[in-house]
Amino acid sequence: MIYMDNAATTPLDERVLRKMMPFLQGLCGNAGTAYGPGRDARNALERARQSVAALIGARPEEIFFTSGGTESDNWALRMGLQASGRRGLIVSAIEHPAVLRTAESLQKEGVRLTVLPVNGEGFVEPETLANALSGDTGLVSVMAANNEIGTIQPIHELASLTHGAGALFHTDAVQAFGQIPMDVQGDGIDLLSASAHKLYGPKGVGMLYVRRGIPMMPLISGGGQERGRRSGTENIPGIVGFGEACRLASEEMEGRNEAKAALQKVFLDRLLSENPHVLLNGARENRLPGNVNISLPGASGETMLILLDQKGICASSGSACATGSVEPSHVLLALGRSALEAKGSLRLSFSEHNTAEEAALVCDVIREEAERLRGMSLAYETYCKSADSPV
Ligand SMILES: *Cc1c(COP(=O)(O)O)cnc(C)c1O
Repeated sequence: MIYMDNAATTPLDERVLRKMMPFLQGLCGNAGTAYGPGRDARNALERARQSVAALIGARPEEIFFTSGGTESDNWALRMGLQASGRRGLIVSAIEHPAVLRTAESLQKEGVRLTVLPVNGEGFVEPETLANALSGDTGLVSVMAANNEIGTIQPIHELASLTHGAGALFHTDAVQAFGQIPMDVQGDGIDLLSASAHKLYGPKGVGMLYVRRGIPMMPLISGGGQERGRRSGTENIPGIVGFGEACRLASEEMEGRNEAKAALQKVFLDRLLSENPHVLLNGARENRLPGNVNISLPGASGETMLILLDQKGICASSGSACATGSVEPSHVLLALGRSALEAKGSLRLSFSEHNTAEEAALVCDVIREEAERLRGMSLAYETYCKSADSPV
């Protein structure tokens, strides 16, 4: 099997599993209890909090563990806006559904929602944000890196504009966290969401960074865990795994990224030169090194995935959450892609574990299968005619 869908989820690192095992087998104490196993759990919890915080230059007490990226995004938007004391919310058009759907439900509850367009490469232009900000804006949420096209946003600039308007800045960093260097102090981030299963940690655990001093109300109330901000008995094995995944990411990030960048170059060079009428979705620069997203209009992404799967290749078209629906990706439409172009998209999110041989094989398979599908596509014939005819 060739796994190139790491933006959907990553495999659990063996070393992470080994750290988790003592807390999965036998008695794992409740961190809220006073005797031995409870103390062990509590110590492990606080060590993990330090590793998570260290990855983004935060203080451990600014990290609140959650059930994952989706919960963190929900919490950040709902309570971040409330903490601001204002009613204006700004999000980008290419956010993950965890942000977009939450923003829409807040809008139904009376929040004034602004959805920022992006440019053709998927960047939120600082000017666009500057024009959207008003005295009523309480919270701006722009993702650090996009899950479909890998675009890395100018977070520092966007956050400083946001602060200029007296609002709070949240970033969904689920794709960026542990993948590229991030610094909440330097970047001016008030709230940041992350998830363990996108960096070789376990599923079902994540965190929200809340800058000290922000009066965040809890989303989930109960027994008062996480200093009253996120109740519920802590997921100790998951949190321990998350901490170890962060520790490994900080040690290995540079090496991982060099390997991924080399593969990315192979993919871009070959895919863009070997296939006719191929479009790169997203930018060449300021892009996650493990992401390639192309459109092959006329070769249905959904069908391509089935054909790739038959050859043991796991990839994605649009986002995993949208798979199964026939709707073209909202991210690709926001870039200005047509429905045909968006539906013909393929995302490869590879890791440092993939090899140059695998990359070469995947390029071969894509070229062959796309050619075959396009040979049967009337839409492709029409597309070529309009693309080739001078206007
Ligand atoms: C995966 C992902 C999420 C959701 O995280 P979960 O832990 O799976 O809930 C949110 N935002 C982005 C950008 C993601 O890639």
